[in-house]
Amino acid sequence: MAVTVYRYGHRLARDKRITTHVALTARAFGADGVVIDTKDETVEQSVRGVVTRFGGPFFIRTGIPWKEYFRDFHGTIVHLTMYGQRMEDVIEDIRKHDELAVIVGAEKVPGAFYEMAHYNVAVGNQPHSEVAALAVFLHMLTEGQWCEKEFDGIMNIIPSKRGKVVHYNYPAILSREGCDPAVIAHSEKVRDLAMEIARRIQRNGTAVDMETVEAGALLHDVGRAKTHGIMHIVEGERIAKQYGLPEKIQHIIRNHAGAGIEREEAEKLGLPDGEYMPHTIEEMIVAHADNLTGIRYRPLEETLALFREKAGEKAAEKVKALHKHLSILAGVDIDEIVEELQHFKN
Ligand code: SAM
Repeated sequence: MAVTVYRYGHRLARDKRITTHVALTARAFGADGVVIDTKDETVEQSVRGVVTRFGGPFFIRTGIPWKEYFRDFHGTIVHLTMYGQRMEDVIEDIRKHDELAVIVGAEKVPGAFYEMAHYNVAVGNQPHSEVAALAVFLHMLTEGQWCEKEFDGIMNIIPSKRGKVVHYNYPAILSREGCDPAVIAHSEKVRDLAMEIARRIQRNGTAVDMETVEAGALLHDVGRAKTHGIMHIVEGERIAKQYGLPEKIQHIIRNHAGAGIEREEAEKLGLPDGEYMPHTIEEMIVAHADNLTGIRYRPLEETLALFREKAGEKAAEKVKALHKHLSILAGVDIDEIVEELQHFKN
């Protein structure tokens, strides 16, 4: 069954929050989309933001006057109003229809709605709220099945007794943003090397946030969906922010180029003001795993030759120093890890 919620009477000055709640309730409780009479880009943006992060499909259209919408709608119209028939008496009948438009009001609705609706439905005969009416109606309509719906989002909440447990689907972000397969394959190789370096460092006594390393490594090049120039680090940071990813992941993306970019250098490269240096252990691990990975893994000497040619001696020296620093923390030359992975994964 296809269900669209029609929101009538949205007032820009006072209904933004509650109309957003109507839309989010429609989405969470199994409707396919929401149509709002008044044009409101703010509401559209916040609902689309939720769909981007938590999944869909769910559509939102605003600025569609009711006469226009219902002129072209040929399904069954359900109007939720406290003056209607008891929901319990009509819900079974309503379930038989294939396409529903469910109207909820903000202010007093035109009398014509009562005539136009195939069903005027009361969720209890007391006045309450459009959000409550919609939630209870959709619960009854789906016989409680709404909560089984899979959203396949980037962010999935893992039910937990205490605290917030969220699982992010990072590979899905890369494909959704339009990264090409070569970038995705490279990012997976960087992830494998970064995780191995992180494990060795951890085993040698320095704490490393493994989840952050994995996320940062997989997403370090997400900005390449927009540009392959140096600006990809800024674009990538912006994309991560847009998905609401933690700052520590945003910073890995921002600071992953070579062994970092100092402020003066950044200015010369035309980057927004600031420095782009890896500071945390997680940032250093991902930056260097990337240095040692192209379409295949390459040892330090080969990497340094590449840096000398493309970025100059100073940049190569910085990469060498980072390699040394991480090797000391890992208790093993990082080249040995590269060699092992070359053997198994090149
Ligand atoms: N004056 C409006 C009316 O005549 O329904 C009440 C406005 S009410 C705050 C906003 C919306 O909530 C209504 O348009 C209706 O869709 C919904 N609503 C409120 N109480 C309801 C109930 N008991 N049953 C069904 N819908 C209800």
